[in-house]
Amino acid sequence: MTEMQLSLINFPYREMLSNIFQDYSNDFEFTASGIFRKIVPPLCPECGHPMSHNGFNTCQKRHLGGANVGKYLCGACGKSTEENRDFWVNLKADFLGIITEICTRLRLNHVSYEVIESIMGYLYPRDKDTIRNMVQCAIDEMDIPPVKNIQFVHYDEQHPKAGRNQKYRLTLLDSVTRQVIADELYDSKDADTIESFLRRNLDTQKQIFIVTDLYRGYSDIFKRVFGNKVIHQFCLLHLNKLIVNDFPRKTSIEQELIKYRLLNIFYDREPEIEFLSCLIEEEKTMKQRSDKEYKSWIKEAKNAFHKFVRDLELKRRRENKNLKQRDYYEALNNFKILKMQSDSFMISVRKRLAKIEELWPNLTAFYFVDNAPATNNPIENFYSASLKTHRKKQLEELGIKEQIKLSALKKAGVFGRPQKTLLDAFFMFIPFLDTG
Ligand SMILES: [Zn+2]
Repeated sequence: MTEMQLSLINFPYREMLSNIFQDYSNDFEFTASGIFRKIVPPLCPECGHPMSHNGFNTCQKRHLGGANVGKYLCGACGKSTEENRDFWVNLKADFLGIITEICTRLRLNHVSYEVIESIMGYLYPRDKDTIRNMVQCAIDEMDIPPVKNIQFVHYDEQHPKAGRNQKYRLTLLDSVTRQVIADELYDSKDADTIESFLRRNLDTQKQIFIVTDLYRGYSDIFKRVFGNKVIHQFCLLHLNKLIVNDFPRKTSIEQELIKYRLLNIFYDREPEIEFLSCLIEEEKTMKQRSDKEYKSWIKEAKNAFHKFVRDLELKRRRENKNLKQRDYYEALNNFKILKMQSDSFMISVRKRLAKIEELWPNLTAFYFVDNAPATNNPIENFYSASLKTHRKKQLEELGIKEQIKLSALKKAGVFGRPQKTLLDAFFMFIPFLDTG
């Protein structure tokens, strides 16, 4: 333990000082005038002659204070040395570490560097380039813990622009832990890029279940990479989006009913179907009347229907429920009935039904594996939280990479509760604020 010569000035900080110098042996002293040095000066590193005390150097940190570190002089050869200042370096690192943590948390929540700079003006002023450097160095040093025991995986892509360059973000998310397996930025998303991305980040020898959207190229890539060890599920919510897009924006009640019957294959949409069925006869009658009369009728009918759908949605949200998933035989049955009537539907619906039939094994794979996911919802939510569509246009490549790494760290639970407050770190500087 370092010997403390307590003056009236540093006396109140006795405990703090012994804390700061706890790692040093009792060969050291902290003098009444605030100099940290060896009690007995060391031997000269050049000639081995005992050196003598020779004043001090002051290490300064703006806004925080300064510490005096002893100097030694060799009387024989004139060599001058300085005592090790690690204690000071550590104090600064502690303090700036917390500042960096605060800035990183703000970045995690999409606060711009401009705003962080202005917030830091109240805490510890730093310019935004310095802050950016601190945050990026800290993120680079943090490792994303690897996900263990991967069985169910979500794969998706995002196409952010870095300035004027089109980039492709490829992402693998673990379905069970929702942790990021891999999340990388590329200049292309061709089959070779996706293939090497998968090979590098997944164990190709193990059985795996992957959910993707309905882009067709994936199946071939997965077969090349995993052989027969892969089960490929198409996201059912993506299918639902495609179904909705098959219809014009202004549908008749009859078309709307067919739309909901398609949505009803995999999810329970009976209430909506019932509501629309009640209007079908009325629509037939109204269509006999003038164009104007029908138009004002359909407008009102659709408004009532949309309100009905919205209320159902709100009710589900209040009760924290999702749309009820159909079991396999309900889904199969609903599909068969639609397929039988296929000829009476418009062309886009007929094509959609043919597509569903073709992709049936990939749409229903989840039914045959316990706890398997049917949608890519987790990755959609992850994307919207990590790189919002309205922001992804404005970021430079470095900014995109920063957000990608930050959200992976967050998912992995790397950001825990703080160990120390900024005030804790600041109080350690009190003995050095004014050394007298
Ligand atoms: Zn010497």
